[in-house]
Amino acid sequence: MSKNYRSELVGAFGDPIDENPTGVMEEAAFAAKGLDYRYITINVKKGDLKAAMDGIRAMNFRGINLTIPHKVEVLKYLDELSKEAEIIGAVNMVVNKDGKLWGDNTDGKGYLISLKNANETPKGKNIMILGAGGAARAISVECALAGAKKITIANIEKKQGEELVGLLTERTGVEAKFIMWDKPVQVPTDTNILSNATSVGLFPDIDQKPDIDYKTIQSDMVVTDVIFNDPNSLFLQEAQKRGAKTINGLGMLVNQGALNFTLWTGVDAPIEVMVETLSKEFGLE
Ligand code: NDP
Repeated sequence: MSKNYRSELVGAFGDPIDENPTGVMEEAAFAAKGLDYRYITINVKKGDLKAAMDGIRAMNFRGINLTIPHKVEVLKYLDELSKEAEIIGAVNMVVNKDGKLWGDNTDGKGYLISLKNANETPKGKNIMILGAGGAARAISVECALAGAKKITIANIEKKQGEELVGLLTERTGVEAKFIMWDKPVQVPTDTNILSNATSVGLFPDIDQKPDIDYKTIQSDMVVTDVIFNDPNSLFLQEAQKRGAKTINGLGMLVNQGALNFTLWTGVDAPIEVMVETLSKEFGLE
């Protein structure tokens, strides 16, 4: 039998990207499943994305992850989009289906799985989301599509926050409301799930937390964070002090990586291996 020395290629395009640990997690998963895939972490500058996406086709990559600053611009270079990515208006992963590039957004789906794994659901719930950037868009759209009752967005930029509320109302039909975040935000008393989707608290700024009135967090709330490094963010520590159940950003990160793994390979992802690898990478063991 002839030998095959060619690996299947996937990877990530972003800038900055040097400190993105996804490749370590995906490569551990490929190895665990005996798949000859390589995940290449590539620094692609703003302005070079078209050439890079042409490269995906030319080099027959199986797919690619997109991160800052390419998640929105990449839409121009795709042939097809999932319904969710089309509503969110951003793509974090692409599958090359025989030369046709299909984009999806698995960030919000990873978030929903991390809620489910903690026996929580957005269905019928009042959800407050801090931030209106890419992660907030993905989380809010997926929660709305999963049957959330009401979504409140707090953001420091009025325009971005109001745009997201408009999108949620028009495209998903959920009841949505904007709160201007110009002083410590009060969490409404009827909130069931409070989600930090800002970048506040991300390593190395682990001594920072979103500027909210922490006294307004109640013990019956579920409090979640997109921040995965440090997974026990100050935000979650404050919520724990008030007796709330907390869910960190590591689950969302692993679950979106697992969804990407399966979309690229067609194989179930070895979640345990992915969790272990990331935890080790973040020095949590
Ligand atoms: P964006 O830059 O698109 O959005 C960041 C958001 O944070 C914006 O709404 C911004 O407000 C807000 N923000 C920034 N600084 C402050 C501050 N001091 N106070 C209040 N709000 C602030 O980034 P992303 O949405 O792509 O990513 C956000 C975070 O989520 C990052 O830390 C990223 O690492 C993490 N993430 C985690 C994932 C996971 O799997 N766990 C997946 C994806 C992202 P403004 O509108 O004014 O700019």
